[in-house]
Amino acid sequence: MELKAKKEQLLKILQGKIPEDVTLSTVEDCAPYGGDWTRLSGNPLLVFLPKSTEQVALILKSCNDLKIPVIPSGGRTGLSGGAVVTQSEVVLNLSRMNRISPVDILGRTVRVQSGAVTEVVHEHCAKEGLFWPIDLASKGTSEVGGNLSTNAGGVRVIRYGMVRKWVSGLQIVMMNGNVIELNRGLEKNNTGYDLIQLMVGAEGTLAVITEATLKLVRLPQKEQALFFALSSLESIRKLFEKARRGPFEILAFEFFSQRCLTAVETKLNRRSKLESAGEFYVLMEIELGLGQESQVLLEQWLEEVLEADFVKDGLLAQSSVERREIWGLREGITESIALTSEVRKYDTSVAVSNTVGFLKEAEALFGSMKLGADLYVFGHFGDGSPHLNVVKQDTGDHKTFMEDCDRFEKELYPLIKKWGGSASSEHGVGLLKKSWVEMSRSPEEMALFRAIKAAFDPNHLLNPGKIFD
Ligand SMILES: Cc1cc2nc3c(=O)[nH]c(=O)nc-3n(C[C@H](O)[C@H](O)[C@H](O)COP(=O)(O)OP(=O)(O)OC[C@H]3O[C@@H](n4cnc5c(N)ncnc54)[C@H](O)[C@@H]3O)c2cc1C
Repeated sequence: MELKAKKEQLLKILQGKIPEDVTLSTVEDCAPYGGDWTRLSGNPLLVFLPKSTEQVALILKSCNDLKIPVIPSGGRTGLSGGAVVTQSEVVLNLSRMNRISPVDILGRTVRVQSGAVTEVVHEHCAKEGLFWPIDLASKGTSEVGGNLSTNAGGVRVIRYGMVRKWVSGLQIVMMNGNVIELNRGLEKNNTGYDLIQLMVGAEGTLAVITEATLKLVRLPQKEQALFFALSSLESIRKLFEKARRGPFEILAFEFFSQRCLTAVETKLNRRSKLESAGEFYVLMEIELGLGQESQVLLEQWLEEVLEADFVKDGLLAQSSVERREIWGLREGITESIALTSEVRKYDTSVAVSNTVGFLKEAEALFGSMKLGADLYVFGHFGDGSPHLNVVKQDTGDHKTFMEDCDRFEKELYPLIKKWGGSASSEHGVGLLKKSWVEMSRSPEEMALFRAIKAAFDPNHLLNPGKIFD
């Protein structure tokens, strides 16, 4: 059956079974759901905005029966093209399923629907002094289903780890419409394979997540933000070593280059309060002990650091407003780069101790290739997770830029491999990093990937062509 006939058939099957406002069918209404933050986009066959698990199950089963491919999506802030339409698939967007239950104080968990926005979950849990410790600049738009499906990282990984540590139950819907509860929120359950962990990071290729039980921690009691200007990558490493020995718990250790700061200052009109400029900047967030003594120890530590030859300038935020301002510099980078020009993103990962060595070689490689583009470097230094963004110069054209990026990528991937790293630290594979997956996984692993996919979705209809072909 051709696509148009399948579409008519699907609408007929669902007529009267789901409310009318669940379906979007005009090209204009559907268009915004065809892409994500990568700016890649396609035209969906139809878009469904379900309000319940039953509706999700009915839509998936109907698509399965008609062999229509489906792309699940959430806040569409993904940076790898995981939610992008490539061949007129149906989009199943979970944003309307955003209910959040009361916090379970005894279990320290909260049950949410997958369309709950990350920051709204934070606000809900903060009322009980608790926190779902997934913190990323897109938190005002990204959703729990998307966070789980990408195994999101963010700025608190150094303290809390990735999303996969913070979930103890999932409700999923299979492509055939079966609804399955995974682990029922149990803290301990050693009865065979951990299907939750298979779902986390699966990028919507195995099943659709409709609900999740999230694990919570106590909100940090006494947070402080510090901001430093440094002259080199080596200096960042020295500061990090000093911080690792410091009298506090590190909650975030983020870095960015002067070029990134300039982009934020010019595109978003934000300002650094440091008196001296550096080649690089570090934003460090820490949690102090509650007594007065911990503040004194911090000030002593800061004095020593500011006297050290590797720090050009530094400050300790004096108020929550100042703390937000410093975070605004870091969190504005992705947005200001997107406002600058075309960009190709590399979300790399190496062992923390290899970060400086890898970055120096990556920068040298980029410089030696003399591309019509600039390199913006920033990210999660404390996790060994630097983001390399290649940004087109104004004088260049789109085609040359794409070719330049392809050439750079061909050299960068082997470099990442040489340093024992990964080409996707936290954004997932989606469409953009498929070649890396084939290059870095053994044939035996790829065979297991395919067997797992076939077990969940034998017709290969759920988010086809993402992660691997
Ligand atoms: C400014 C900015 C900063 C960012 N910073 C970070 C960062 O620090 N760390 C980080 O890890 N990421 C970061 N990201 C990337 C992005 O925000 C994350 O990947 C986020 O987890 C995606 O959530 P989403 O709801 O937007 O998912 P979407 O983009 O909608 O989808 C992402 C993937 O999940 C699948 N999916 C979505 N919902 C479901 C569901 N319910 N069931 C099954 N599959 C589903 C989709 O098919 C797709 O493959 C950033 C993005 C932006 C724009």
